[in-house]
Amino acid sequence: MNPFGSYLRIRRICTYSHNYIDLARTLTDQLVTRGYARKVLEKTSNRVLRLDRDKLIKYKQKKMINLNKSILLKMKFDLNYIEIQNDLKLVFKECFKNHPLLSTYNLKILNKTQSNIGNLTINNVKPESLTTNIHLPKKCLLKNCKICSKFISSNFIKLNNFLLPLDLDVNCNTMNAVYAINCSLCPKVFYIGETERKVSVRIREHLRDIINFKPYCQYNSVVAYHFNLKEHILNRDFKFYIVQNELKIKKIRQDFENSLVHLFLKLDFKVINDPLKIKSRYNFHVQI
Ligand SMILES: [Zn+2]
Ligand SMILES: [Zn+2]
Repeated sequence: MNPFGSYLRIRRICTYSHNYIDLARTLTDQLVTRGYARKVLEKTSNRVLRLDRDKLIKYKQKKMINLNKSILLKMKFDLNYIEIQNDLKLVFKECFKNHPLLSTYNLKILNKTQSNIGNLTINNVKPESLTTNIHLPKKCLLKNCKICSKFISSNFIKLNNFLLPLDLDVNCNTMNAVYAINCSLCPKVFYIGETERKVSVRIREHLRDIINFKPYCQYNSVVAYHFNLKEHILNRDFKFYIVQNELKIKKIRQDFENSLVHLFLKLDFKVINDPLKIKSRYNFHVQI
């Protein structure tokens, strides 16, 4: 069999690149048990990941939609609430059923995509549009906020030549998010985390762990261990980004976190997440 063709098929099927990374990794593991060399497979898988997905899928001529008597609504596509379109249409119909003019109209919803990894690798968002975008995530700037000073308000993380787009509608109190902690002293070191609570609460826990670090104690977290290494100063070196929010389903949040870990590793960054935890949760090969 031809591994390239198999990776290609997965790439065609997966709308999101993080789904591709997951499935391609499973395929790699299966092929390794059949005697294929892991290094060669990983190279092939990466090559397919970088292909333009639009060109892999033949363009079909779409039927023209008749927009007469339609009111258009453009909104952010939300994976967590796929039924929203039908619900909104029903509400619209219900509200205006007695209206002399609007009762003859239909609501048409257009999905708006936002900057994310899928957009970057599949729709080829130009990196310049990320660096010149003046809309940035907001710090809460509350007087007693302990994490504002550590929150990097940026619309991307620069990973060598790869610009990882960040969600823009976030702040210290965002919930259901995936975040990345980075060390100013060791720019190549990242910790990827996810939380359903407010990011500020989770980050404050990390900060407390670092402050309460006890040498040679087995209960220290990986983050506490790193920021207690020689020459590290918490207030100067600890910083974090919020990568994605509104991931309300735990499984999707964890998949996203996991994809990020692999993306960072592929780009030769050091991820300090506990390898045992990742391995047990996802049951596949992780090299850290
Ligand atoms: Zn804040
Ligand atoms: Zn460091």
